[in-house]
Amino acid sequence: MEKKQFQAESKRLLDMMIHSIYSQKEVFLRELISNASDAIDKIYYKALTDDSLSFNQDDYYIKVEADKEKRLLKIIDTGIGMTKEDLENNLGVIAKSGSLAFKAENEIKDGHDIIGQFGVGFYAAFMVADVVTVISKALGSDEAYKWESEGAEGYTIEPTTKNEVGTEIILKIKENTEEESYEDYLEEYRLKSIIKKYSDFIRYPIKMEVTKS
Ligand code: ADP
Ligand code: MG
Repeated sequence: MEKKQFQAESKRLLDMMIHSIYSQKEVFLRELISNASDAIDKIYYKALTDDSLSFNQDDYYIKVEADKEKRLLKIIDTGIGMTKEDLENNLGVIAKSGSLAFKAENEIKDGHDIIGQFGVGFYAAFMVADVVTVISKALGSDEAYKWESEGAEGYTIEPTTKNEVGTEIILKIKENTEEESYEDYLEEYRLKSIIKKYSDFIRYPIKMEVTKS
């Protein structure tokens, strides 16, 4: 299996995420839920103009699943999914890296928390996870792919199987440190409060399932 490198700017951002310069790591969930919601929007808008597609509201939702024993947090959506090329192009690159890097560096300097004011994107997952796996099947495709990364070293992509169209983001939650209890991100009450705080406006249902051990 081939290991691919992130683009230079992406790598820089990734480094910042991994070293967790942001005080509010919890925003990772907002970012992943907003991506899930965007992915469902894409099907919704496609269905408006494509007669072969119907949008049945009940089929579209976001699911947050925590498994405490395995330390896994999953964010699952029934959105448009990603092809192999999409995984390469969208998760290996950061579009707004210039302004983001600027803001991030200034946050370090002045200590202000401005992170909540803009989107940090997919890489925010690396603030709380040491392995990020993305399993996706794109609308109109028979194939599914698994993208996986442990951070700055790069990522791998390989074929996998997935029944439904959509995306599953799987986070292997970091071990606790003295400063941060990452395990909290596997607790129902914590997840619920983060969702309420940042994702209250999301127009698709957000379901939750927490398995203790
Ligand atoms: P942004 O959302 O601002 O474009 P992100 O870093 O959050 O930036 O995401 C990068 C891209 O990865 C998205 O634009 C989208 O194309 C793709 N992506 C991320 N998560 C998903 C998902 N759950 N389903 C489909 N595509 C996704
Ligand atoms: Mg996003």
